[in-house]
Amino acid sequence: MSTHSFSTLTLPSEQLSNLEELGYAQMTPIQEASLPAILLGQDVRAKAKTGSGKTAAFGIGLLDKITVGDFVCQSLVLCPTRELADQVSKELRRLARFTQNIKILTLCGGQPIAPQLDSLVHQPHIVVGTPGRIQEHLRKGTLKLDKLKVLVLDEADRMLDMGFSEDIEDVVSYTPPSRQTLLFSATYPEGIDRISGKFQRQPLNVEIEGGD
Ligand code: ADP
Ligand code: MG
Repeated sequence: MSTHSFSTLTLPSEQLSNLEELGYAQMTPIQEASLPAILLGQDVRAKAKTGSGKTAAFGIGLLDKITVGDFVCQSLVLCPTRELADQVSKELRRLARFTQNIKILTLCGGQPIAPQLDSLVHQPHIVVGTPGRIQEHLRKGTLKLDKLKVLVLDEADRMLDMGFSEDIEDVVSYTPPSRQTLLFSATYPEGIDRISGKFQRQPLNVEIEGGD
């Protein structure tokens, strides 16, 4: 067994088979460096270039923590744009194929709110979305994050660029302090230290060279 194999991780055999079916033969460097800590529940901040497999790094980790029988939101992934949120949801659905009945909902701005309200009558296990719209649902009380286990700030550099700092801070204020917080970014501009320091607890810092 290769040291880069997913089977070096403590994952359900159904997930290992699913990864094999997806053609994920080996972990990418960012997955290999971050997944053991993520699976242990540690906070991680990770920097690796676009296309390096960051979604599966946090996705495999957060799926491992979902209790399907609890109909509450257990994981939230914040993304800078609707396109990126859609990509993350799609990848999470592929990664979730090993288990049945995991409900993943995408909530983004620039979309009508009425269908989102209908979808939230029963809380999903996982929400992926953009900060402004998530904030709107939290204020309305239509989305509840008091049982959140894992918060992911994906493409954190771009979210800062787009001026989402305050929205992110507001969203985080609805989550329990016990949560695990994962921060993923292609670059570490100024501001990353500040949000990491504010929202993470003794994060493991992982940087894979060859940034973009
Ligand atoms: P990033 O978020 O770092 O830009 P993505 O998570 O979008 O990268 O992944 C880029 C591509 O690599 C996706 O098509 C994904 O399905 C694929 N991928 C991720 N992990 C692996 C792996 N271990 N083996 C093969 N392909 C992978
Ligand atoms: Mg990504």
